[in-house]
Amino acid sequence: APVHTCAVIGSTNQYMMAQLDRWQKGECLLAETQTAGRGRRGRQWHSPFGSQFIMSMYWRLDDGPSAAMGLSLAIGVAVVRALEAQGYQGLSLKWPNDIYMARRKLAGILVEMSAAVGGLCHLVIGVGINLNLPDDVIARLDQPCAHLAEQTAAIDRNKLSAAIIHALRETLALFEQQGLSAFLTEWNRLDMFMQQPVKVLLGDQIIHGTYCGIDGQGNMLLQDGNGIRKFVGGEISLRAD
Ligand code: ATP
Repeated sequence: APVHTCAVIGSTNQYMMAQLDRWQKGECLLAETQTAGRGRRGRQWHSPFGSQFIMSMYWRLDDGPSAAMGLSLAIGVAVVRALEAQGYQGLSLKWPNDIYMARRKLAGILVEMSAAVGGLCHLVIGVGINLNLPDDVIARLDQPCAHLAEQTAAIDRNKLSAAIIHALRETLALFEQQGLSAFLTEWNRLDMFMQQPVKVLLGDQIIHGTYCGIDGQGNMLLQDGNGIRKFVGGEISLRAD
């Protein structure tokens, strides 16, 4: 499948989502910068020119919506493993879709989907990784962030891009056959908050508890005074407490 590149775009996810019938499985679009980069729930993703690895990949699943939660966890595992294979250390995952380095946010994953005829589901998987963020952007962000430049002076972006594209294609094919179960051991190894005190932000509500990892479907488990509660994702954010 082709890999497209461009210098400036609104959002690679948005561009691919707008023309879903045009792409083959595994087809990618990489950009140097996004003028309207997004996180979850419309939050902004900052990507000053040349400071990022930004990519979206198209895929199609037979039973998309039910599998989608597990899929974004598997993608996180794939990206971390690709980075570890390049020698980066101190990486971890924060449920459901963020990658951390030295416990600061390094990368975000945004999986968007659209139902299609015949029960098919189109997916666009966006990945944004900080390579080398300018100091003023780091200072302005409302949460601590990390970039790969902390560990490597010169980043080979072509090599990194190839490794991530390869890892994602392989992961999506494996996920189609085996689902999340093939990724659970690795997820557990990388899960940042395992057995630690956390707070769950759910609208105006804040729920405190001990983070207990995920279940086989990728739902988050939290132990509070009343026992183990399960969170299905979507509208919640997890923070250290
Ligand atoms: P959660 O997914 O737990 O709700 P989040 O608040 O980090 O976490 P996302 O939607 O994943 O939300 O990402 C958007 C947020 O990420 C922004 O609100 C900002 O705090 C932060 N952010 C934006 N750009 C960057 C960047 N380049 N590097 C690190 N963090 C960033």
